[in-house]
Amino acid sequence: MSKKGFTTTNIHSDRLDKPEHGVLHKAIHTSVAYGYDDARELAAVFQGKRSGYNYGRQLNPTVTALQNKITSMEQGIATAAFATGMAAIASSMLALLRAGDHLISSAFLFGNTNSFFGTLQTLGIEVSFVDATDVKNVKAALQPNTRLIFVETIANPVTQIADLAAIGDLCRQHDLVYCVDNTMTSPHLFLPKAVSASLVVNSLTKYIGGHGNALGGTITDTGLFDWSKFPNIYDSYKVQEPSVWGITQIKKKGLRDMGGTLGPEAAHHLAVGSETLPLRMDRACANALAVARFCDAHPAVTRVNYPGLETHPQHARARELFCDFGSLMSIDLAPGVDCFEVLNAMETVVSSSNLGDTRTLAIPVAHTIFHEMGAERRESMGISDSLLRFSIGIEDESDLLADFAHALDTALAGAASL
Ligand SMILES: *Cc1c(COP(=O)(O)O)cnc(C)c1O
Repeated sequence: MSKKGFTTTNIHSDRLDKPEHGVLHKAIHTSVAYGYDDARELAAVFQGKRSGYNYGRQLNPTVTALQNKITSMEQGIATAAFATGMAAIASSMLALLRAGDHLISSAFLFGNTNSFFGTLQTLGIEVSFVDATDVKNVKAALQPNTRLIFVETIANPVTQIADLAAIGDLCRQHDLVYCVDNTMTSPHLFLPKAVSASLVVNSLTKYIGGHGNALGGTITDTGLFDWSKFPNIYDSYKVQEPSVWGITQIKKKGLRDMGGTLGPEAAHHLAVGSETLPLRMDRACANALAVARFCDAHPAVTRVNYPGLETHPQHARARELFCDFGSLMSIDLAPGVDCFEVLNAMETVVSSSNLGDTRTLAIPVAHTIFHEMGAERRESMGISDSLLRFSIGIEDESDLLADFAHALDTALAGAASL
């Protein structure tokens, strides 16, 4: 059979796995335990000599079906699913890194990932935060004990785009694990495997689930990294071929031992949501470009951060690497324009911290998600006190433009009358 497209493959994957009764959705399996008629089979499952289920913390058929969907979307070899995106990141890093190791991370980073890397530092893992929009800075940070490089595709909230391809080349040359958080682009817009990523993170909570009704996260091994060159693999996980050693260790040390397991109900919601990922994302990207252009021309706005604008510093890179420019954008307001007044004047756009939802969501960044980081670090990340972040949804474009026009006009009039 010829290889089918992204959406076709995804929406038919459960059915083609020959499920009971010909159901079109993988069933929600709630059982925590699995019984075996032959106890020797149970032992073989525990010893990894045959595939099968032993306990719900490690594996569940509903979750397996979702993992397979993500593996297929990312064109990888295996995926581990977790309760949240943060559980995927934290569990994987703790499973792979040891005290004395060095991690290089983009300085433009999701706030909670940034906070977690701070925790790694207290555990004796060195972390260098660098401006990853230029590979030169990553190269300058290399140390003999560097094990892993972590970047995001489009950084939240200022939308910097890492030098993804050049960093991939660097990792290949130095046999470093290259972990790319693909949450903001999703596998519909970008395949990190194409820039030599070893591991790909997706917060399923965002675009893949897409409806803000379930949490989940995954880490996918692209199959490109030779784990026999990674010094931290435990001997007991070196049973099969080296390509699967990394994901095996993540599943054992990260998922089984740390227990951030994705539940079957959430997995079902996320799997259903994923069916419309390309449709939602195309629409959201088109809306985002329209809103970005509108804001760019509005006197209440001094700056628009959106990769689809020709003025964005990495616009050419985004055009080359991604199928579209995403639906995340942020704006800086003119002096005197109050960011809270803008948000409160909006009717369709919701003040909320999530992103990747079908609905357009907005948040005043410095006062909320990046508050804990402090003014100095915020400034180094280009986050001003008036910065507003928007995750543009799939509403009708004319309604969004009307809402932005009304809110920006109202706040500007308020500023003028001060
Ligand atoms: C939201 C997010 C995460 C964390 O995902 P959760 O599912 O909320 O834990 C990680 N990385 C990025 C880029 C995100 O936007």
